[in-house]
Amino acid sequence: MLKSVFGDSLNTADVTKFTASRARDYIFLTAYISDSVAPLHCGHLMLLPAPVFLHNGVSSLKLHHAMAVNQHWINGNLLRRWRRRCDKLNHDACQKWPESSVLSSAVCPNWFIDTWRMCLVRGISGVPYVALSYVWGQEPFFKTTQQNLAQLQLHGALTDSHRLLGVPRTIADAIAAVGLLDERYLWVDALCIVQNDDITRHAEINKMAFIYAGASITIIAAQGEDANYGLRGLRSISRPRSRSQDIFAVAKGYDIVETQKCSDTPSFWASRGWTYQEHMFARRCLYFENNGVVWSCKCSSFSGDVQENPGSTLRWVARQPSLYADVFSIPFPSLHGYGELLRSYNMRNFTHQQDALSAFAGITTSLSRTFKGGFICGLPLMFLDIALCWQPFNNNCERRLPSEDKEATELGLPSWSWVGWKCEPDPWAWHHGNDYAKKSQALTRRMDTQQTLPTINWFSRKWGTKETTPISYPQSMMQELKTLAVEGNELPLGWKRFDYSVDPEELRWESLYYNSFKPPRYIYKHEHDQNSEFWYPIPSWYDTEEAQLIDASHSDTLLCASTRRAWLWLEGRLETYQMAVSIRDNQGKWVGALRLQMPLSSTNPNDSTNSKEMIACELVAISAGYVIEGGNADAIDEWKVEERPKGPPGEKYEYYNVLWVEWKDGIAYRKALGRVMKSAWEAQDLEWIDLVLG
Ligand SMILES: [Zn+2]
Repeated sequence: MLKSVFGDSLNTADVTKFTASRARDYIFLTAYISDSVAPLHCGHLMLLPAPVFLHNGVSSLKLHHAMAVNQHWINGNLLRRWRRRCDKLNHDACQKWPESSVLSSAVCPNWFIDTWRMCLVRGISGVPYVALSYVWGQEPFFKTTQQNLAQLQLHGALTDSHRLLGVPRTIADAIAAVGLLDERYLWVDALCIVQNDDITRHAEINKMAFIYAGASITIIAAQGEDANYGLRGLRSISRPRSRSQDIFAVAKGYDIVETQKCSDTPSFWASRGWTYQEHMFARRCLYFENNGVVWSCKCSSFSGDVQENPGSTLRWVARQPSLYADVFSIPFPSLHGYGELLRSYNMRNFTHQQDALSAFAGITTSLSRTFKGGFICGLPLMFLDIALCWQPFNNNCERRLPSEDKEATELGLPSWSWVGWKCEPDPWAWHHGNDYAKKSQALTRRMDTQQTLPTINWFSRKWGTKETTPISYPQSMMQELKTLAVEGNELPLGWKRFDYSVDPEELRWESLYYNSFKPPRYIYKHEHDQNSEFWYPIPSWYDTEEAQLIDASHSDTLLCASTRRAWLWLEGRLETYQMAVSIRDNQGKWVGALRLQMPLSSTNPNDSTNSKEMIACELVAISAGYVIEGGNADAIDEWKVEERPKGPPGEKYEYYNVLWVEWKDGIAYRKALGRVMKSAWEAQDLEWIDLVLG
């Protein structure tokens, strides 16, 4: 380990003087030889992600010190001490999920495990409880069903549970660990959701954000690949752990203890889909990982291997599943922020592919307060047309199809939503959805001149029915607000209009937002947020009381619309970072570009992406759009491509957003998304069709 800090040439026996100084997130080490003035070697010890601590002799630096720990057992008192410290230090952010204004505290789980009476009890609103986040694994295990529910409510029903009933170790250990945290009630999905009651199960899944945000502490069983691994190292509760420490003598009086092995591969727990929102909403986490135990709340982190120095100003950063968890605390809908969440979620794995939507339902439900109208299969209705233009980063998308062992519709998850594909969505494709924000701390705002323009009215239809429901309203309401604002018409409640006086420096950038470099006349502010400035008023959570429990987990939804279709050709890879190809007309003329979701060779084994062969493709228009020439357009693959005809700066590059589709049994499935230049599209032999997207 020292070699990696100082390099191969350090011989610790020669070191006569040794100093350490602390920077923000690392320790700077200097080794001297024979009291020479010039240091012999210098090095950094990173504190994160593999914390390394000096053992002694540097108290003046107010560092936390490494502790020698018992190899097999965790000090159980620590857990209680950490919990009490967080309580006592008045960590406000830990006592209450900061977005509790979004999440209703009245929502309460249906069932708890009462660890005193060892049975299931009805959930009681306002009662503190611990939640468990863990992985199920492949082995079946004991769960609550309609058949055993009555029996599980009898006093003592869960005593000696893992032997008598087959409750797996991780759950049994968590039941016992609740007492170490000064709590009484535990919520575990397998026991607190009646697994074969579809109606209540569905309702509980939609409440998942509230359940984890409402938990006093979430125990995270991050080690092991199934529910039988247990929470290792809790004496007289669980099996022993195996915690090794490496101690290096760096100089006389200085030891360095490597307390945690750095691991490049995330835990199995962190790779699973269901655990994402559990972690996202948990306020105080107790991790069992790497044979150690770590507390992480909003305000601090404690590790079982570290002796805290009370005077230390060093603070560990609480761990977040996404840097963009902020999206929950913004009173306005941030489509870009939402896209960033998907990026860290959508590559996760599921035993049942069709769970990808349900395991995200807590997130969409809690965001429904700012995203008016809620979500349809993971796409926000307020931004429907932009959202439908989601793009993957790479062409290694895998279609999520229902697993055979579970009852599911033939359709599975829709191909028109990101959720129908295991892929990493590109948040820049959605960035211009934040175009209302002029200046705001909370919202990402970067120059972007792209606009998406609705061209069709969308309807949704449940699989197997004929009835359609119009769904374009939330988006047209946004469009209306935008138009009214630009024209200076009446304002929604809470909004004020200000004349926009152009700062020349600002003009250079911001005016690009509106067409043709013409600066807008007004900016807008909301009465509850004096620091942010907007180009137009938009709905916010100030307008509503609480997040509604919108049923966001129905997957078998078809999107219907009347639109136009054309047949064109794909040929020639674009020289961009993304896997994009050119779209050509019958004469071979360049008319647009399309980003592949899968290599072309998988649909036609004789083709490679670089092949010169033309591939016929059926394209349907789903919206229009433009970007101003001379501006940035990161999401437009063809932006810098030579073949694209370019206008002078300030002119619009206009196009139609098109889906490449393939039909099966009267339903069209998305294969990829692209753009065809407006003039070229309108010159095609276009045909009106009733599009039914599955
Ligand atoms: Zn705290």
